[in-house]
Amino acid sequence: MRFADLHLHTYHSDGTRSPREVIDLAKHHGIGIVAISDHDNVAAFFEIKPYAEAQDVTLVPATELSCEYGGTDIHILAYAFNPLDERIDERLRRFREVRHRRGFEMVERLHELGLDISQERVEELAAGGAMGRPHVARALVERGHVASINEAFEKLLGPGMPAYVEKARFRVEEAVELVHAAGGVLSVAHPVHYPDHERVVLELLDAGVDAIEVFHPDVDEESSDRYRTLARFRGKFVTGGSDDHGAAKEVETIGTVRISENLIEPILSRL
Ligand code: AMP
Ligand code: ZN
Ligand code: FE
Ligand code: FE
Repeated sequence: MRFADLHLHTYHSDGTRSPREVIDLAKHHGIGIVAISDHDNVAAFFEIKPYAEAQDVTLVPATELSCEYGGTDIHILAYAFNPLDERIDERLRRFREVRHRRGFEMVERLHELGLDISQERVEELAAGGAMGRPHVARALVERGHVASINEAFEKLLGPGMPAYVEKARFRVEEAVELVHAAGGVLSVAHPVHYPDHERVVLELLDAGVDAIEVFHPDVDEESSDRYRTLARFRGKFVTGGSDDHGAAKEVETIGTVRISENLIEPILSRL
């Protein structure tokens, strides 16, 4: 019996670890099936596939898509799609370009506020992945403009703050169509994060999402049980992962969520 962690971030999105560190740590925690689910990109997969294989770790192509549903931000995990699929590649590339322009717009606003950080540094911190507010926040901390990433969000980068710029998102229908066409499956990430989540999750399943992430540090046992039952009755399956971001979040969660491989047959059978 092998264990899986299907929700991990690296510095290709808002995590701090390298893909290699993630593979090593996962292995250390007895995890043999790993999905690096960076936001809106699959850079880590290509970077670390040969290394993961050499370490006897099964690497699942994955990404966490920033979606929009009824005005709320929803994260949908995509798994086991063809990572070379041209449409996915093209769509994610366009999406990242929009994110880059947004990143630079935030840098400009910060300049106008007299806070000097360089576009190049933000780009470097994003490491070719999906540029976002965490990278801008880290550049601000480096230059001593704020004391912490949290302060950067509270004073400057959070919604309604002076350097906040809206982000582009996928429509759920579009994400479902794109991933299914590339042979993959989708799972609602951390279902309890969304307002009115019981209704929303149900609607997402009806819209074609294949699974619910019922094992996650933020999903308590009661919600986990409830969503497992829901998945079963709707003919869907369940996924899980630690959603580790390295040192970017207060707690490092890698190793705290391990799910057994027999739960994720619909993913493994697609590899
Ligand atoms: P973005 O996708 O560029 O809008 O950035 C969103 C990411 O910023 C989230 O995935 C979090 O990792 C991070 N984030 C949001 N709010 C905070 C906060 N208050 N402190 C630290 N990180 C945050
Ligand atoms: Zn994240
Ligand atoms: Fe998420
Ligand atoms: Fe995540």
